[in-house]
Amino acid sequence: MSEPWRATVLSLYPEMFPGPLAASLCGDALGRGVWSLELAGIRDHGIGRHRAVDDTPAGGGPGMVMRADVLAAALDAGLAAGDPRPRLLMSPRGRPLKQAHVRMLAEGPGLVLVCGRFEGVDERVIPARNLEEVSVGDYVLSGGEIAALVVIDACVRLLPGVMGKELSGAQESFEEGLLEYPQYTRPREWEGRSIPEVLLSGDHARIASWRRAQAERITRERRPDLT
Ligand code: SAH
Repeated sequence: MSEPWRATVLSLYPEMFPGPLAASLCGDALGRGVWSLELAGIRDHGIGRHRAVDDTPAGGGPGMVMRADVLAAALDAGLAAGDPRPRLLMSPRGRPLKQAHVRMLAEGPGLVLVCGRFEGVDERVIPARNLEEVSVGDYVLSGGEIAALVVIDACVRLLPGVMGKELSGAQESFEEGLLEYPQYTRPREWEGRSIPEVLLSGDHARIASWRRAQAERITRERRPDLT
């Protein structure tokens, strides 16, 4: 069997992993060795008797900032020299995560994910350890752990052999710059609502063109920025 896709997560709360990634598609794939998960506790590299990982912001202001030296020590201890994997820092200031980027990351050897807490991390560690800032959306989470779970989940479901049908990835939302068409299943009638007649027609060409038109309409209405 080929090498698993490897995720290494650096966090103050390693007990939050694998969390939801232990269930369903991702959990089965983890069990089968399609991907692997390593956790590095940032607190293990804290300073002094109290294992301090944060300090007050230079220049004043509210909250605390994660120390560059502590994060760098955690990265240096956790990664082999020359580890080729991209190192992502979860950050609301980062590049917004998109499906095309996810696909690229899933095709690589895996990821190193750094989870921030408090007001964020000392800026100097970003260039010093070659971290790439990635955001999971325009809102602020209390920490990077849930963002890291999002990134890993999105990548793992694309790994070969994870999704039931290899094809099911290709027609989804975003894959063609479109949101997905509406889906239906049994029963045929439900609370007075029926399934669109075309889907029951067995005419594959008509079904395909109906779906295409629906996907275009939904994308135009909801996400004109994608078109
Ligand atoms: N003071 C920061 C927010 C810190 S939130 C600011 O205003 O930009 C604490 C941590 O949660 C961050 O360091 C980051 O790791 C994580 N986080 C919060 N929102 C996120 C988002 N939208 N995407 C990715 N990570 C996020």
